[in-house]
Amino acid sequence: MLVKVLGAAAGGAFPQWNCACSQCRRLRSGTFAGQPRTQAQIALSEDGVSWTLLNASPDLRIQIEATPQLWPTGNSLDSPIQSVVITAAEADTVAGLLSLREFQPLDIYATPSVLRILREDNSLFGLLDRVPRQAVWKEIVPDSSFAVGSLQFQPFSLAGGFPGFVGAGRKSELDEREAVLGLLIDSSSGGSIAYLPGAAKVEDSWRQFLDECDVLLFDGTFWTEDELCRVRGGGKGASEMGHLPLSGPCGSLAALRDIKCPRKIFFHINNTNPILDESSQAYAEVRDAGWEVARDGMEIVV
Ligand SMILES: [Zn+2]
Repeated sequence: MLVKVLGAAAGGAFPQWNCACSQCRRLRSGTFAGQPRTQAQIALSEDGVSWTLLNASPDLRIQIEATPQLWPTGNSLDSPIQSVVITAAEADTVAGLLSLREFQPLDIYATPSVLRILREDNSLFGLLDRVPRQAVWKEIVPDSSFAVGSLQFQPFSLAGGFPGFVGAGRKSELDEREAVLGLLIDSSSGGSIAYLPGAAKVEDSWRQFLDECDVLLFDGTFWTEDELCRVRGGGKGASEMGHLPLSGPCGSLAALRDIKCPRKIFFHINNTNPILDESSQAYAEVRDAGWEVARDGMEIVV
């Protein structure tokens, strides 16, 4: 299985258009020891010909253009992208679907609750239903495996609610377990990846797959609990936003210290997180602990 990291940043990207935090400022001025990143986006393929996207980021169009494997090869409308697996109804995970609206046949997998938010509450997504069999919407539920081509997916529920734009009335009709999914993905050759871009805590029940998977893509959003509050002068803490910070005695670096997965990668990294700065102490700590920091264009063979 080939795993392409098309975008490694959290929502807002790096730099973020309206952010003048120290890191965004230094990146813009050319004095930052690290790279810009687009918003979180993964593409998977077993044969290098047909591709499955994990979510659809707001940066998807430029991410496709930066990735020759995803360019059309025929003479007319065509795409190697066959399917999209959606793990939440956030703008960061679904907005890119609107960039795939040009009458391209696509299989789109999401939970029944996420599909209701997209298809019943947001008429704009009707752009994907203009001709028969344009989008084929497929329901998936936590703890029930499904196949996309030769890839086998095992979705599981992650702590975290529905997006803030979903009204209270609608939320009361939805199943909270369907709000945010993690994914275990097995290739036919035996390799596997675990995909957890948003995790508020590390569950004991994950231990077995964290030990057995070949590659872990884990929530790298924040270094500290109060990181965003300090930049914005207020607001929610990391945990309240569904993200376990990396540092500290209860952080993900400590919680995942002993897992046996041979390749551990922090993914979905907010522009305020100091692990983006390769001259920082935080970056050194992460690397010393055996972790990689995802970057755009990273290619992983599993
Ligand atoms: Zn910033």
